[in-house]
Amino acid sequence: MDPEPASPTAAVLVVGTELTSGLHSDTNGPEVARTLEDAGYDVRSVTALPDDADAITSFLTRALPRHRLIVVTGGLGPTHDDVTREAAARALGRTLTCDEGLLQSLGPAVARHGSAEAGARVLRQAEIIDGARILTPTLGTAPGQVLEHEHGTLALLPGPPHEMRPMLRMLLGDRSIHASPRILRTIGHPESDIQLLVEGALAGSSGIAFTILASAGLVDVILRDGGAGETALDTAAHAAAAELGDACYSTDGSTLAETIVRAAARRGLRLGTAESCTGGMVASALTDVSGSSAAFAGGVVAYADAVKSAILGVSSATLEAHGAVSAETAIAMAEGARTCLGADIAVATTGIAGPTGGSPAKPVGTVWFAIATPAETHAECRMLPGDRDGVRTRATVAALGLLLRALRTPAGSGDDA
Ligand code: AMP
Ligand code: MG
Repeated sequence: MDPEPASPTAAVLVVGTELTSGLHSDTNGPEVARTLEDAGYDVRSVTALPDDADAITSFLTRALPRHRLIVVTGGLGPTHDDVTREAAARALGRTLTCDEGLLQSLGPAVARHGSAEAGARVLRQAEIIDGARILTPTLGTAPGQVLEHEHGTLALLPGPPHEMRPMLRMLLGDRSIHASPRILRTIGHPESDIQLLVEGALAGSSGIAFTILASAGLVDVILRDGGAGETALDTAAHAAAAELGDACYSTDGSTLAETIVRAAARRGLRLGTAESCTGGMVASALTDVSGSSAAFAGGVVAYADAVKSAILGVSSATLEAHGAVSAETAIAMAEGARTCLGADIAVATTGIAGPTGGSPAKPVGTVWFAIATPAETHAECRMLPGDRDGVRTRATVAALGLLLRALRTPAGSGDDA
């Protein structure tokens, strides 16, 4: 495996004083970076600068020799603070000239302005850096500019995200140098274990890099093409998925909830939820999936003990003897949900999300889960880290993990395969 494939490097610069002063959030930076990474670039920086021509020129002067591609967004509009064109021209040592074709196309926009002065400002957008390829706006009036220079390419794109996006596609359309990444999604193993397994699977392959993204009990492996090509990337993805085994639940980008809904629909099984500490988050994750009605019967948010009893049929004897956060209550909740929702498989959550409510016997983060299937009911306890939000998010993922495991079990068998 080649840990550092020679991907061409890229840098992203977002321009706007509203961004550096915290008045407006930068969404272009992450979006452009992600798109460039998908296209096979190694994005080395995402920088924000104010509408300050000197700052932009000095950034570009340093960055131009270093990166195959630099994408700048913002500062291409008609107002006095739109200085990206001038700053980029200076960094490249080129002149700005008025493009006749653009002047004509801006005519209607000029006419819409009340004053001659405002109209004249619109025309600033016809100023093109020598040698630029023009990206014609499909929305808005600001054209983009693509400049080839001795070290690579500099692209200037407009700031409004809905104007920037189509131009970024135009820019990369003929430039997608690498195959799109393959995503392997895993559950149930720490990222260090996943890393070792993937490293083992990729040993000997070259031109493939991988990134590990971990969040709340889930670990995604992203395999990126660093020159190996489509076929080699597919082979590597198969090898890695085989090495990951049951930990890997998705190789096509599907989320955990999507995988569960599709598996249940395929097997003609109806799912149900009985949730206390997750308050409906498991049901919400399942119903986020388009087409979930094919597999999701419904859910009960049974927060108060009275609701656990009245709707799910958890006996007061169980609640009194073992407490709401217990294996016995979780089991009764899951079995009650199967009955009252008419579900084939139901999952239950009951735990202490905190920050209050913990005790030495049941500290914050204690969560009992149960899964009830036609063959059996099974309960398990997890001690989940994090604040209230973290515990609830991890509990949701763990409950989905139990549904996944139940759906992988052959019908009628009690195995946990
Ligand atoms: P500009 O082309 O720089 O005049 O930007 C016009 C508008 O687009 C700004 O006022 C913002 O509302 C939006 N915008 C510019 N840059 C960004 C960015 N990096 N992320 C999100 N929105 C942006
Ligand atoms: Mg601006």
